[in-house]
Amino acid sequence: MQQILQRASSTARTSRTLIIQQVQRLLSTQLEFTKNNFKVTRGNFHSLDEHHVEHFAGIVGETNLIMDLSDLEQYNVDWMKHLRGNSKLALRPKTTEDISKILAYCNHHKLPVCTQAGNTSLVGGAVPVLDEIIISTSRLNRIISIDETSGVLVCDAGCILETLDDELHKHGLMMPLDLGARGSCQIGGNVATNAGGLRLFRYGNLHSNILGLEVVKADGEVLDLMSSLKKDNTGYHLKNMFIGSEGTLGVITKVAIQCPPKPSSVNLMFLGLQSFEKVLQTYKRAKTDLGEVLSSVEVMDAATMQFIGDKLGSKSPIGEYPFYLMIETSGSNQGHDEEKMTNFLEYSLEKHLTLNGTLATEPSKIKELWKIRETIPESFHKDLYVFIYDFTMPHQIFFTLVDEFREFLGDKARSVFGFGHMGDGNLHLQIAIDEYSVQLHEYIEERLMKRVHELNGSISAEHGIGFLKSKYLPNVKSANTFKQMQELKSLLDPNGILNPYKTVYMQK
Ligand code: FAD
Repeated sequence: MQQILQRASSTARTSRTLIIQQVQRLLSTQLEFTKNNFKVTRGNFHSLDEHHVEHFAGIVGETNLIMDLSDLEQYNVDWMKHLRGNSKLALRPKTTEDISKILAYCNHHKLPVCTQAGNTSLVGGAVPVLDEIIISTSRLNRIISIDETSGVLVCDAGCILETLDDELHKHGLMMPLDLGARGSCQIGGNVATNAGGLRLFRYGNLHSNILGLEVVKADGEVLDLMSSLKKDNTGYHLKNMFIGSEGTLGVITKVAIQCPPKPSSVNLMFLGLQSFEKVLQTYKRAKTDLGEVLSSVEVMDAATMQFIGDKLGSKSPIGEYPFYLMIETSGSNQGHDEEKMTNFLEYSLEKHLTLNGTLATEPSKIKELWKIRETIPESFHKDLYVFIYDFTMPHQIFFTLVDEFREFLGDKARSVFGFGHMGDGNLHLQIAIDEYSVQLHEYIEERLMKRVHELNGSISAEHGIGFLKSKYLPNVKSANTFKQMQELKSLLDPNGILNPYKTVYMQK
């Protein structure tokens, strides 16, 4: 047995050495890379060698050290399949201590790292840009405690969102966030991106729900910010700094989160509307009439429905209209909530706010309707290349950009369409083209980012900055705000090893 292990380990060492030599050759000859429309210069980092790998093997064990190129594929390629990193090593630590040892070593040896959770980032945040070592959090997956009275869940950062939600249901609770990627994304990834999604309208963003975090700093020091208290004004709220920090300030290893009771009554309405003006009027009325039980308001335009019809065969259940609204209520009294929804639907039809609508009260019918909305991202994987954007726009001009860019691009685009979390002012704008070109990318994006800023919107409502938007960040922040962000990054990660080339990037 011992012999077999020794043989296996020496074969692994030989193949590791070969792969590393290849990387070193590549890196020593090529220091400037062009990735999409970005020029990336490799930071002043050391390159991986076999001694480093031996050291990591001692921390995570041989089986949790991924070096086989085909096994690395899932870690190197992003969810959209638009970006490919060139990492030659992914590590699968199990504990905070493992991560602490890995980071302390990487910091000392100036080895860059990319933390990866569910790899569902839509801005290239979760995959390496060049040769960063990937730290996968998938094995940090313990649910530590669920307190039914306070509603506080404490768990490891690598727990999958859907698993947490399912577990909480058994205790009459649910996660305060939900998104289409729930089956893959992890709570640590959600916190690191300050993910929004379908429940934000009701429960607010993660800054209001996260009570505590455990974070490993770049130098390996473990920061215990794990309060489970709802109110705690003892000094600076350091945990907030890590919410939305996109793996650039530290690695989140544990989370304490406030969870609401699972509603016993859920209803969903699917409406067809004539114009965006009517969408706004209906939205305003829904807030007044459905008040305390209103939990989600989603919008999509006819071009979105057309696109998902072509690519996925999805169909509107009520026929075709210029706009669609999905309005959900969640409460504790089915009779009361259903009556409110029925009255609201009758009013909207009577007053011609809405042209047609259907109300689902059965869980299976509700699931079917949500599927129309939630499968939209799957359509991006079909034959066309789709640029996806997530902006916050003032409600009155929510769809202005969609119209403007449809006109601006003309037949350069196959489709320009918009949908989004209407209740949060969050527009997802998509531009589908036949084939990717750097020129077209620049042509679209330079103008788009500038325009969002001019219209007082935000270039990222929820997906974050990641790699794809990092070059625009200095343009949308005031000079001293951006400088303050850089100073914070320097303070917490002086060697710049955490997720380099992304978000607030500084060449080291
Ligand atoms: P990853 O994609 O693996 O990582 C995201 C970023 O966080 C990276 O920068 C990574 O380095 C960093 N990171 C991950 N884990 C840690 C950690 N433990 N510590 C420090 N940094 C870490 N987003 C929304 O906000 N709302 C939506 O409605 C929404 N819907 C989506 C639907 C689909 C189908 C898909 C594919 C994506 C969607 N997203 C949405 C985007 C994405 O799912 C979210 O941003 C999600 O929160 C990312 O979680 P993840 O576990 O996949 O993280």
